[in-house]
Amino acid sequence: MREIQKPIFAANWKLNHGPTKAREFMRSFLASYDAAGDRTVAFFPSALAVAAVAEALSSRPDVLVGVQNIATQPSGAFTGENSAAIAADAGAKLVLVGHSERRHVFGETDEDTAKKCALAVLHGLTPVLCVGETLEQREAGETEAVVLRQLSAGLGALDDDQAAASLIAYEPVWAIGTGRTATPADASAIHGVLRSALRERLGDRAADVAILYGGSVNRDNVKTLLAAGDVDGVLVGGASLDADGWSAIVRA
Ligand code: PEP
Repeated sequence: MREIQKPIFAANWKLNHGPTKAREFMRSFLASYDAAGDRTVAFFPSALAVAAVAEALSSRPDVLVGVQNIATQPSGAFTGENSAAIAADAGAKLVLVGHSERRHVFGETDEDTAKKCALAVLHGLTPVLCVGETLEQREAGETEAVVLRQLSAGLGALDDDQAAASLIAYEPVWAIGTGRTATPADASAIHGVLRSALRERLGDRAADVAILYGGSVNRDNVKTLLAAGDVDGVLVGGASLDADGWSAIVRA
């Protein structure tokens, strides 16, 4: 895979856009988005639309596709699940691990995120480990402890090379899909905390690890968030669903 160039603009389509809509979206988006060597765009469609997006991107190495989740098992009798190997076979290059909806709606644990990151790298997928505190945790002053625990657990089964090649997304739970965004200063502060923890483990290589911010990013706030210290990209849900709006965001 081509080296992932920062800044990174990642679109999480959640439970939206099947293969037909995904193909239409890619036609429209790619027609207006010139290959740019100075950034990376990544799409996380429904698992059922990954192959369609991968096919649409066959001549665009600057645009990547990933899956939103993988199973904690490599294969077997786990009806309804998608494995890392199957995702890679469908064309995925990346995988979201520990997205707040996986943690809080589906009960994904830190232990699960460690298993998923390990399976991802085993099958050639780059994990995007998502961390973030709930409003309750934030108000209790626990933000740093929560994100540091999630970071250390999620990367816990990876060796240093694999950890250094992973991506991190800081997504405060209270900012996801709510219209409330962390201020650039708040995002930068937590990204700095994450960077320091990565530096303790990886030394100078921590500077290369991309840390994305996610939580109600849109075309109006993306520029200021990206200008904040230690913010290497954005992970965008709602505002990534429309091709024109997304095109405006990736041009930031
Ligand atoms: C997300 O799903 O990762 C996300 C950040 O969603 P939204 O941009 O809608 O807050």
